Amino acid sequence: MTPGDTTPDDVVLRGTGLRREHRAGDRVVPVLHGVTLSARRAAVTVLEGPSGSGKSTLLRLLAGLDRPDDGTVELAGTELTRLSARRRRALRRTRISWLHQEPTANLVDYLTAAEHVELAARLRRCAVDVPAVLDLVDLAHRARHRPRALSGGEQQRVALAAAVVGAPDVVVGDEPSAHLDPSATAHVAEVLRRLAGRGTTVLLASHDPRITRLADATVRLVDGRNAEPREGEDRP
Ligand code: ADP
Ligand code: MG
Repeated sequence: MTPGDTTPDDVVLRGTGLRREHRAGDRVVPVLHGVTLSARRAAVTVLEGPSGSGKSTLLRLLAGLDRPDDGTVELAGTELTRLSARRRRALRRTRISWLHQEPTANLVDYLTAAEHVELAARLRRCAVDVPAVLDLVDLAHRARHRPRALSGGEQQRVALAAAVVGAPDVVVGDEPSAHLDPSATAHVAEVLRRLAGRGTTVLLASHDPRITRLADATVRLVDGRNAEPREGEDRP
């Protein structure tokens, strides 16, 4: 399945004609030149492309962290690009989960795995079955551990547990396995697959084959433009 096969109702997140330049002092660096991407409900969409192609810049626009210079981002019927920064922030808190590549960046040193899930529920003002959510990410046996007592892969799975609390519209991960070893990456991939199977919409930038082979749809960027996905080329 490619993004072109989607029906409009399936699409939870859609970026259209996205342009963005970075300004470094008086230098202007054009990064995205009119990029389009859609992510379907309960599917894993993988954004791939060489380093420097604009993946992180694009994910930040789609997650409402930055605004495009041109183009639109629509999330579950709301055009993010028309919202004030304040309303965008409020919507992000409940409807969008962001997963950093550095596991500790997603977590709070002094909170246990269970407390991370509870905190997410408090921030999102929803009820949560903490043991069930931890079980979903295979961490039932680590509920009372703090980040420093967990491996990098376990830390990312705590972050995923917190990320799905309150059923956000989308979970966005920027190379979430970049700091993990192969077996931890495989486990995170298995959990991501499971979450998508239960209705979570997942959008990931990655070039790790353990992650990219999960993709229900692949979007490839080259030099800030949409390019044809390399079907199968980097799949094991
Ligand atoms: P990727 O995630 O695919 O590696 P990025 O979106 O991080 O790509 O970067 C795309 C381009 O934008 C690169 O040339 C990078 O140097 C440039 N860039 C990224 N962030 C900034 C920034 N804050 N200021 C200036 N240039 C940036
Ligand atoms: Mg990047």
